Amino acid sequence: MTNKDLAEVIFPDITTTIEDYEKMYPPRNLPEGAKVTRFAPSPTGFMHIGNMMSALIDYVVAHSSNGIFYLRNEDTDQMRSVEGSVEFIHHVLEHYDIMPDEYEYDNKIIGKYGPYIQSERMPIYHTFIKHLIEIGRAYPCFLTKEELDEIREYQQKSKKRIGIYGRYAKSRNLTIEEAIAKIKNGEPYVIRFKSEGDFSKKIAFEDLTQGKLEFPENDLDVPIMKSENKLPTYHFAHVVDDHLMHTTHVVRGSEWVSSIPLHYELFQAFGFKMPKYIHTSLILKKDEETGNIRKISKRKDPEALMFYYEEKGYPQIAVIDAVLTIANSNFEVWREQNPDKPFYEFPFSPKKMSASGALFDLDKLDNISKNYISKMSAQDLYHEYLSWAKKYEENVYNIISNHESDTINFLNIERLVKKPRKDYENYSSIFPKSWYMYDEAWKDNITYNFPQDVVKEEVINIMNTYLNSYYDPKDNQDEWFNKIKDLASSMDYATDMKEYKQNSKNYQGSIADFTGYMRVVLTTQSMTPNLYDIMQILGKDRMLKRLEIFKENY
Ligand code: GLU
Repeated sequence: MTNKDLAEVIFPDITTTIEDYEKMYPPRNLPEGAKVTRFAPSPTGFMHIGNMMSALIDYVVAHSSNGIFYLRNEDTDQMRSVEGSVEFIHHVLEHYDIMPDEYEYDNKIIGKYGPYIQSERMPIYHTFIKHLIEIGRAYPCFLTKEELDEIREYQQKSKKRIGIYGRYAKSRNLTIEEAIAKIKNGEPYVIRFKSEGDFSKKIAFEDLTQGKLEFPENDLDVPIMKSENKLPTYHFAHVVDDHLMHTTHVVRGSEWVSSIPLHYELFQAFGFKMPKYIHTSLILKKDEETGNIRKISKRKDPEALMFYYEEKGYPQIAVIDAVLTIANSNFEVWREQNPDKPFYEFPFSPKKMSASGALFDLDKLDNISKNYISKMSAQDLYHEYLSWAKKYEENVYNIISNHESDTINFLNIERLVKKPRKDYENYSSIFPKSWYMYDEAWKDNITYNFPQDVVKEEVINIMNTYLNSYYDPKDNQDEWFNKIKDLASSMDYATDMKEYKQNSKNYQGSIADFTGYMRVVLTTQSMTPNLYDIMQILGKDRMLKRLEIFKENY
């Protein structure tokens, strides 16, 4: 009996060949130099910032070369699959407008190289596994869980390398007849790759990020097909898929670097050309408690998962820029020189990616984001803020949708100027800094944030006099300020700060104190955007109402 007979017993229904599939998926018709990348997450958890970095690099590398970026759902680990994670991946790609050129979702396949969901590619994998069995490079392994545990314990105790290789690969020694007899007898088995590697020899490998690497050859007989559902393992499936889908560049996390020798041998066993690899940096952060730099953690750090950025309401471009800033050391300079270019025109260079890890810092994101938000028009900002609130803060949504023009006018204060205000790092930070503009947000327990002690009657007097005898909604900012100065000096407040510094005892206070009182009565805050504009938005009646609230609450 031959290996062909064994392959026939294991896959009696498989009549296709590798050549058939190669004909079905011919090389892509792309211009010279075009790169084909794929984002290939496993739906075993929710999309995290490391995935985002890979997806962005995939997008940039493909789009800057007139290539193709596709999405592959690597769902072969069905035991660990997490409900909702596939939907979330799509949502994130859509939200950031980095949709792949080819993908499969919602019973729709876009692209000619699908299926793009691994569990739908079983006949393909089985064809390729059947071939490996026929050529003597894969075999059924009947080691039981107990036997495997025993081997591992022994290897751990005697400090040997862990895994099935050499004399531990017992099923290798079965004759074809014995193997077939066991299968016919119903004994469970996995299919293992039959390695021909020698651990004492070295392979050289060129990773585009990490440069020249050297590893011992693989000599492990890893499982390539599982027992119970006959699904392939990641190691095997990605080799087949990247070959048939004509991936030129694999962008993936650095946790896969140690699998390079195995993947190298798998590609070789088929005689396939290996794609190029860009292993992305580990994402690090400074631990708030210890101050130490450590790996970002999906369990401990909310910012590790992509939910965080949407819930907080960061503009998409700010998140993209923050991730690219840590992905490539020259991104920041490029962005300074090209503030208006789309991010995918950035000439990404794998060599400029840190091999030791990328330090992600939320303050940096906040700065990037403040900058973007400060440059948005008040209308655009309002609409982004509104759609964020609709999803995450119903109360805020109700208020700001009822006061569209006031909100836009408020957001517009000191906006269309050379150095616009940079108050907001995300949409969720707007309401806490603007609630006082909305009457319905004035609740009990008002705290008036006067910077110093004030005499209530004095403040009431100032406001009353101003509102009843000086205020005119038609005043422009200069007229408004002149009137305030007149009133201030008539009440013994210094209108010249220099003079006040020299002779402060001659005065009740300065013009800054004077406007400060007005500001606090009207907003409770000691610092706000330009008071004149706030007063323009509020109008006389609402200001009088706030004075009443002050009288009752201070
Ligand atoms: N499915 C693998 C993961 O989610 C992807 C690795 C790769 O991109 O090849 O980690």
